[in-house]
Amino acid sequence: LSDRRADVLVVGAGAAGASCAAELRALGFDGSVLLVGRELDPPYERPPISKEYLSSSSSRPLAVPDDVELLTRTSVMKLDVSARTAALSGGGSVSFGRAVLCTGANVRRLPVEGAQLEGIHYLRTLRNADALREDAAAGSRVVLVGGSFIACEVAATLTTMGVDCTMVFPEEECLCLQFGHRVGAWVQGLLESHGVSVLAGDGVERFQGAGEDVERVVTSSGRSVDCDVVVVGIGAVPDVMLARSSGLELGARGGVRCSSSLETSAPGVFAAGDMCEYESVLHGGPVRIEHHEVAVGQGRCAARNVMGDGEPYADVPYFWSDLADWATLEAVGPAVDGWDDEEVRGSMEDGEFSVLYSLRGRLVAAMTVGRPDDLDEARERLRAAAAA
Ligand SMILES: Cc1cc2nc3c(=O)[nH]c(=O)nc-3n(C[C@H](O)[C@H](O)[C@H](O)COP(=O)(O)OP(=O)(O)OC[C@H]3O[C@@H](n4cnc5c(N)ncnc54)[C@H](O)[C@@H]3O)c2cc1C
Repeated sequence: LSDRRADVLVVGAGAAGASCAAELRALGFDGSVLLVGRELDPPYERPPISKEYLSSSSSRPLAVPDDVELLTRTSVMKLDVSARTAALSGGGSVSFGRAVLCTGANVRRLPVEGAQLEGIHYLRTLRNADALREDAAAGSRVVLVGGSFIACEVAATLTTMGVDCTMVFPEEECLCLQFGHRVGAWVQGLLESHGVSVLAGDGVERFQGAGEDVERVVTSSGRSVDCDVVVVGIGAVPDVMLARSSGLELGARGGVRCSSSLETSAPGVFAAGDMCEYESVLHGGPVRIEHHEVAVGQGRCAARNVMGDGEPYADVPYFWSDLADWATLEAVGPAVDGWDDEEVRGSMEDGEFSVLYSLRGRLVAAMTVGRPDDLDEARERLRAAAAA
């Protein structure tokens, strides 16, 4: 027997879940909405965790309407998609009409020797950032493992806090996988000009410490970097645990397989956010994206489709990344199949430029530092190409 009844059950109280619940109310849905999240805190935006929240504890809460019931510190353990019931941690259950899964992603762990030492941090929640802030006092030495957005952002933020930062990653330059070598070299140069040490083309062999605390990172090439703290930022893994145990189909990109209108393989059960692998009308195939604005947009789209619209999610994905107050990178795309041409506009030397990425003569993505008009143009061109 079910303890509760919800017309719409939203699982996961992050950006996608909170925006889905808010959009249902904004559209005038007057049934009961239950938003269930496993974290201690009510919904908040995740991007500040590596930026202003890390440096100054300033967070950005996500609004949840008063007439949405929010359960924090609660996990949905299992869904029976035929009986339309959900088992909650703590023993209760919910019967639902429709469900939206927004379970996000978890950090990718680095399973090397010494990984259990104290002082090795990962960043996904506000509490993770609190713990890092406490450990990484001004003057301390931090090694950042990874060359992607989180490692670059955290290196920039900690440097402004007086922390001595060294990055280690296997790519030739940071962010080159996302934006190519030209932009990668520019970003790396920017970080280095502010005092970040960068060990590119190297990996982590092991962490060392004589006692319980990490004291050293030994790299694959045999370098030894003394440190007080380590931050590992090597990507995220979509959280499909609930979807898998509930029998939903998964996709080749590790997410929950969804139609263009974000419906999973179980009719009436939708997905949105980092774990949603949807059939993108813009990209012409399945795509999974880990961006804040995409999670928000998909949450809203899922809400509309819960109410029966059946519309595809067709926003042009947008992403931004702040490197302290040194630079903001913005991008549309992403170029899921890569690119074979880069058009540079503006001046990289002056720090105001855009790069437009094309594949076989067709625009597939663009990034900019300080030239938003280029991004608007690229967005329009991507939209128009998909509609043609
Ligand atoms: C440090 C950091 C910085 C970032 N910076 C940027 C940025 O600058 N720009 C950008 O575009 N994107 C950024 N991102 C990515 C962006 O934050 C994510 O794409 C976005 O948070 C995804 O939202 P979501 O709702 O899909 O997942 P999440 O925000 O991960 O929320 C999912 C929630 O579901 C909960 N959950 C999981 N399973 C269950 C269950 N069974 N029952 C109940 N609850 C469950 C989780 O605990 C979590 O709270 C950043 C991410 C991180 C970690």
